[in-house]
Amino acid sequence: MRTILIATHNKHKAGEIQQILGGEFQLLTLDNFIGAPRVIENADSFAGNATKKALELAHWLVQDDTKFQTKSAKLEFVLADDSGLKVDALNGAPGVHSARFAAMDSGKSGNSPDADNNAKLLKLLEKVPAEKRTARFRCVIALTFVPTARVESASPTCFADEFETQIFDSVCRGKILSAPRGQNGFGYDPLFVPDGYEQTFAELGDDAKNKISHRAMALAKLKDYFSKLPS
Ligand code: IMP
Repeated sequence: MRTILIATHNKHKAGEIQQILGGEFQLLTLDNFIGAPRVIENADSFAGNATKKALELAHWLVQDDTKFQTKSAKLEFVLADDSGLKVDALNGAPGVHSARFAAMDSGKSGNSPDADNNAKLLKLLEKVPAEKRTARFRCVIALTFVPTARVESASPTCFADEFETQIFDSVCRGKILSAPRGQNGFGYDPLFVPDGYEQTFAELGDDAKNKISHRAMALAKLKDYFSKLPS
């Protein structure tokens, strides 16, 4: 059993990750770590933000050993998922701004409600015909090892790579509807129809989404990585 901290407060995202990874993984979220620093996601790429979240939290965890001794296991890794929607007709927007797309207009800080983000997307695509409403979800996962003991460097100019970080990524292509459909999922799910399907992610439901989504594909790569690690 691997114990991993998922760097999110988003219950939907954490639930999807748990369902996709399955029972071999004990997953904790930021809700289990009162006092965890709020990482500012100001990088201009998904990989930049995911790496920043994973590394800042791993560094915070090692400041105090007791933080990562859970009741039943030792926390070994921090996993940070940075993901979003890239719409071709909008030159890749909202991209890294997916979570705060609507709030960007009002200058408000923090994420926007999903309904506001979806309304803004529909407005911007109002005049774009169906065949040009192509888009993709992208997911980048950074996995950082949380070292338990300090590694002495052989030389003052040579640093051990204690906080080793691996990147796993994937995309899911599809198109954007002109009105939301479905009740499941989160974010832009009610507007996104994956290629090869007629239903939106929100209509397909968790089981189907978690087999084909950008997150499912990136996590499949991560599972493969773990399957080759010594336990
Ligand atoms: P993050 O939490 O900073 O990675 O922001 C991700 C944002 O991208 C979410 O708030 C959603 O708006 C959007 N997003 C990412 N993945 C999905 C998905 O699987 N379905 C729908 N929206 C998603």
